[in-house]
Amino acid sequence: MQLNSLQNDRAAGVLVALAAGDALGAGYEFGEPLADEAEVAMKGGGPFGFAPAEWTDDTAMAIAIAESVVDGADALWTPMDTATLSAIVSRWITWARTSKDVGAQTRAVLTSVTRLQEQDEHRSLAESAFTAAAELHRRSGRSGGNGSLMRNAPIALAYLGAEPEVLRDAAAKVSQLTHFDPDAGEACALWCLAIRHAVLTGELDVRVGLRTLDEKRAELWLSRIETAESALPRDFDRNGWVVQAFQGAWSAISSTKVIGVGPAHLRAALEACVRGGRDTDTVAAIAGGLLGAAYGFSAVPFEWRRRLHGWPGHRTSDLMTLGLQLARGNGRTPGVWPDVEYFDNSAFIAADQTDVVAHPVDDGVLLGGAPALNRNDYDAVVSLSRIGTADAMKVPEEDRASFWLLDEASPGKNAHLKFVLDDAASAVQTFRAEGKRVLLHCVRMESRTPTVAALYGALVSGLSPLQSLEKVREVLPNAHPNEAFMRVLQSRDER
Ligand SMILES: [Mg+2]
Repeated sequence: MQLNSLQNDRAAGVLVALAAGDALGAGYEFGEPLADEAEVAMKGGGPFGFAPAEWTDDTAMAIAIAESVVDGADALWTPMDTATLSAIVSRWITWARTSKDVGAQTRAVLTSVTRLQEQDEHRSLAESAFTAAAELHRRSGRSGGNGSLMRNAPIALAYLGAEPEVLRDAAAKVSQLTHFDPDAGEACALWCLAIRHAVLTGELDVRVGLRTLDEKRAELWLSRIETAESALPRDFDRNGWVVQAFQGAWSAISSTKVIGVGPAHLRAALEACVRGGRDTDTVAAIAGGLLGAAYGFSAVPFEWRRRLHGWPGHRTSDLMTLGLQLARGNGRTPGVWPDVEYFDNSAFIAADQTDVVAHPVDDGVLLGGAPALNRNDYDAVVSLSRIGTADAMKVPEEDRASFWLLDEASPGKNAHLKFVLDDAASAVQTFRAEGKRVLLHCVRMESRTPTVAALYGALVSGLSPLQSLEKVREVLPNAHPNEAFMRVLQSRDER
């Protein structure tokens, strides 16, 4: 689907924020609720001993869905076909072999799938999964765990342009692979419809899918939503149940709205999920999928994106790529950014462009254009323009900071402009504090690079941002930040 730049930012943010919530909650799983002011960090640990910033089953299972859909040759926005559903189950089985934290219900279903396959090898994996999930429900009388809602966000991206009912059915179908209970299917449908609405409009509205349910179920879910809005995440202490996980996530989002919209809300809401206790990573992963859809990749702080990693050996950039590919709906598309080895900026670079200059207040920071990525004399890179997967390969991925920033002055091109510019300046400061030599670059170092260089200069020198920009202009005479960037620098001067 053809998306505008803000919608692309939001599509790219869904899996990144889901994983950020997951990794943030991983170290607190099954714990008691925390005080409102308790610090929450991506510390790892928890009952399954995760590494700091490592995501858990929630993101892993979502990645399995995302990759199966991107690799499937499904016609766009048509019902999920058996081949794609089977590919999802197959990836889950592979993941479960080595995972330390497969949920009880999912484990039971995947084990039965293997048994059913042994009995009849002609049966599809999807068919075996539906059968196993239904049997489990019949045997135990319940199958409404939160394990399908936590992983379902990719379905929303894959159906951005579909009729709401088609998305509702696809979300429910993927849920039913392991979770037969209608509560689980409906929760997935409602959350996916809210995610899609958020990607397309930037609005957070969990009621948007209610009209796709029959009247009685819609009434029930409306009362559940209203209960969530009048409570706090810690009130939903049975959040292993899909309904309370849904309510806990929505209550975290709605109770932190006072903060305002954008990156601050995203952070506050995910922290509130974790402070709510019990199944912290799952509630935060659920909330993260929706918050990322509403606020975008650009709203997730670099501090959280930096070391995010997990099964199957992915990092933040892979999640961003998957999100964009799902939303575009035409497969893996190698050669189309972000799935390119080297990003070609040659059309925008003048032959006489200087390679790099040292930052006027800190010579451990090099200011450069895109060609400077080829140099060998930096340990960390802060990219303000698009780069390829092999650009800057000489530094480890955690020392590569990429920001979603267009050199555009018109409103509606960059979301959260002040936040992104400040976050980039603070990434430079973080790397410098670690003793690293930093390359700060965009394409031509005329607008983006001088703006962030001025903010960084102000951070470390005590100069105002405009004074700092004058210093930058001494080494970069062509520096002319666009009007929107200048307004950010000026607003800082007035403070
Ligand atoms: Mg988990």
